[in-house]
Order: sequence, then structure tokens, then C-alpha cells
Amino acid sequence: MREVLVLAEHERGQISKSTTELLTLASRMGMPAVVHLGDLTESARSVLAEYGAGKIYIVDRPAVHEYRVLPAAEALVTISVQSSPVAILITSSAEGKEIGGRLAVKLGSGIIIDAIDVAADLTTTQSVFADSFIVRANVATGIPIITVKRNSTTPVAAPTTPTIVKIDVKTSELAMAATIVDRTPHDQSSRPELSDATVVVSGGRGVGSADNFSLIEDLADALGGAVGASRAVTDLGWYARSNQVGQTGKTVSPQLYIANGISGAIQHRAGMQTSKTILAVNTDPDAPIFDIADFGVVGDLLRVVPQLTEEIARRRS
Ligand SMILES: Cc1cc2nc3c(=O)[nH]c(=O)nc-3n(C[C@H](O)[C@H](O)[C@H](O)COP(=O)(O)OP(=O)(O)OC[C@H]3O[C@@H](n4cnc5c(N)ncnc54)[C@H](O)[C@@H]3O)c2cc1C
Repeated sequence: MREVLVLAEHERGQISKSTTELLTLASRMGMPAVVHLGDLTESARSVLAEYGAGKIYIVDRPAVHEYRVLPAAEALVTISVQSSPVAILITSSAEGKEIGGRLAVKLGSGIIIDAIDVAADLTTTQSVFADSFIVRANVATGIPIITVKRNSTTPVAAPTTPTIVKIDVKTSELAMAATIVDRTPHDQSSRPELSDATVVVSGGRGVGSADNFSLIEDLADALGGAVGASRAVTDLGWYARSNQVGQTGKTVSPQLYIANGISGAIQHRAGMQTSKTILAVNTDPDAPIFDIADFGVVGDLLRVVPQLTEEIARRRS
């Protein structure tokens, strides 16, 4: 069976959920073969095995840690030439898209970015202009390179015993153009990562102030969820930009999304409308968020949210 290369995304030895999503998509087209840059931990190996990696290429050279983007693109070129994959799948992060773009130039291949689905025949689906158009496209030249948005598919376990292949890749002088000079991990929050969370509790301008965001955090903590925010909130500096949900923020697809004091602008919806269940709390009965909500409360969130938190805590105790 032909290989489908999947570039693993990992941090501190842990494989990201989006990599398991790519493995599930890759298995539709051939044998998922992971390209892992850097040392492979046992926990990373077992996650990759659990989600169907038939092969793991390991490139563990200092250059992949010390320089940005280009060593990764060069490693993928070397492996692609050896394995002639059906396609190459990469997570649609800023870095992933840059690696994909440079790889496309080096291989003379077409690239499709921000796909939300990839069919067995390599037809991709993209949702564009804040979800107002669905585009279906195929790469017509070379090895299709496809970057896929996080949370576009549900990872399905398909346990395997992957073959491990260590690859020695030469890094060109050019690839050492941008050096990583420092790495400072973010403070680890006890809350789940926003993009991967199964519950997201978000606040919008209706929250009223940065201080009132503690109400949103309390509800998120009662449900073991992550905190999201609209762009109005991050523009006002009430909450961190890294928590913004939407077209220019993160895409989330949790089991439960609670939108508090969020009007439901199209750019916000673009980042959360695939959530399985949506609950909206808003004083305005005509707020557009109610058009996509499964459950709605017309009311003042400053009164509704604390009651909700209290009731959840009571039922959980
Ligand atoms: C290119 C572009 C990209 C964008 N990207 C994003 C993005 O990624 N994410 C994003 O969110 N937006 C984005 N926006 C902005 C978007 O258009 C909206 O302006 C923004 O989402 C509005 O945020 P909001 O719903 O919090 O605020 P508002 O639209 O002001 O809505 C506040 C809501 O709170 C309700 N409310 C007020 N008080 C209370 C209360 N006490 N209790 C309950 N409800 C109350 C009001 O009825 C209202 O519906 C983008 C815009 C552009 C042009």
C-alpha cells in the first residue's frame, strides 16, 4: 500500500490531537507514514501506533530544533523522494502552512491549505469567506500537499505496530537562515487546550469587563472546559489573544460550546459553528447567535452564569 506522509506536530514529547486527526484522514488514501522531527518519546510512539501509523520516519538532527521551517521542508523533500507518497498532510498552523508552501516549491507540487476534509480520491473540502462558500478542489500537479485545519475530523483509533525508520537528512546552509534563539513555554494552565477541549465556555463584549471574566472561568472550571473569547474581547484587552475563537482566532469543535454575551457575528461563528451542542446566553432575543444555538437563555449573563455554575457544582458534588 502506498504511503501518505503525515508531518507530526509535537510539543514536550506529546503528539498533538491534530496529528491523530491527520492519521485518520491519511488512512483513507493509503498507509499513514509519520514524519517525526526530533526525538521520539515512548508516549509519542504509542499515540502514533494507536491512531494507525504504519511507519514512523524519525529525523533527529540538531538542525530541526535549532532552525525554523526550512530544515523541516528539506527533511520532507528527502523522505518524499524516497517514498513517493500519495499525498503529504500537514496541520494548518502558521508554521505548518509555511513548511507546506516551501515544500510545494521544492517538489514542484500543488498545495491546498486549510482543508476541512480530504476524500479517499484526494478531493479536498475548504470552507471559505467565513463559511459562506464550500470549495472542493484537487491538486493537479506533483504530490498533493494538503494542510488541514484542526478539529476538522474525529480521530479514530486504528492500532498498529509501526516500523521505525531513522533518516539522515542533510541540512543546507540556506535552511539555517532563521535560528531559534529562545524557547519559553507558556505557563501551563490547568484548563484543557482550547483547540482540543471537549467543553468551551466563551465570553463576548456582553461580559462587560476583564474582571467579570472570572464568571466565565468559574463556569469553565465547573465543567472542566477551556475558556474562549470573541475578538471584541481580545481587542479590548479583557482576555488573551490566544483564547480568541473565530476566523482570525482558533477553530474549536467541542461537544459543548457556551457563548455568553456574544452576538454571533459571522467571523465568530466561523470558529465554533461545528460544535456539537451550542448554548447561548444573551440579553437580546434577536442576537444572531440564537440562529445556530441548540439551547438559548435570553437573560443577563451576570445573573445567569453564576447560577449555572452553582447548579453544576451542586449536581457534581
Ligand atoms: C476580518 C475580520 C475578522 C474577524 N475575526 C473575528 C474572530 O476571529 N472572532 C470574533 O469573535 N470576531 C471576529 N471579528 C469581529 C466580529 O465581526 C465581531 O465584531 C465580534 O465577534 C463581536 O464580538 P462580540 O459578539 O463579543 O460583541 P458584540 O457584537 O458587541 O456583541 C455583544 C453581545 O452581548 C450581548 N450582551 C450585552 N450585555 C449582555 C449581558 N449582560 N448578558 C448577556 N448578553 C449581553 C449583546 O446583546 C450582544 O449580542 C472579525 C471581524 C473582521 C472584520
